[in-house]
Amino acid sequence: MKVCHLYPELLNLYGDRGNVMAFARRCRWRGLGVEVLPVNPGDPVDFREVDFLFLGGGSDREQNLIARDLEKRRDLLQAAVEDGLVVLAICGGYQLLGRYYRTLEGRVIPGLGLLDLYTEAGRKRMIGNVVIELEIEGEPVRVVGFENHAGRTFLGPQVSPLGRVLVGCGNNGEDGTEGARCRNVFCSYLHGPLLPKNPRLVDYLISLALARRGLPADLAPLDDSLENAAAEVMLRRLLK
Ligand code: GLN
Repeated sequence: MKVCHLYPELLNLYGDRGNVMAFARRCRWRGLGVEVLPVNPGDPVDFREVDFLFLGGGSDREQNLIARDLEKRRDLLQAAVEDGLVVLAICGGYQLLGRYYRTLEGRVIPGLGLLDLYTEAGRKRMIGNVVIELEIEGEPVRVVGFENHAGRTFLGPQVSPLGRVLVGCGNNGEDGTEGARCRNVFCSYLHGPLLPKNPRLVDYLISLALARRGLPADLAPLDDSLENAAAEVMLRRLLK
């Protein structure tokens, strides 16, 4: 598995790097070899060879710093996404895949426009623990995490929400949606980091990456009792 961590130094809030670690570790536990490629502005990368691409969260300042570099990668990234590349983008990274992000001061940071959505910062930050419900292979799955963003994201008709908010604000605190999904691109506001806390979601991403290469996507089960017990504690507290 080739895992690309895009802008690990600029987009890495609240331990988002843990998402790459969880993906790699759960592959290795199944005997799958993993290579992690950190890609910083200016570094070459061929997205066609990548199996999993990760972008974390960052502040407005950092988003602004990478917008130009990201723009240069648009065509190659778009082609890979159309070919089924599995992508996970969190918070600031999520916003950059949409059309634009407007800061509180009214500055517009252009996004890649890979997804039909836009984000505008609001005065009150949305901070706190979150529970969402999403569907994985037809089954409802509860996912836990933590959000901290000023941006309010609104989805256009060409993308679906990743999930429905049970606790917290999600995309905008208004419409009950959280994150976005289009093809194999998954976006979310949930830090936590998201994947180590939600093993079912990691395995789903791994299966999609294997299926894209025509490989058997059935994964041997792992012992997730610790992760599940931790999620249970959070669900019990938050869903009272
Ligand atoms: N700058 C963005 C916001 O505040 C992203 C923050 C983040 O990635 N946590 O909405």
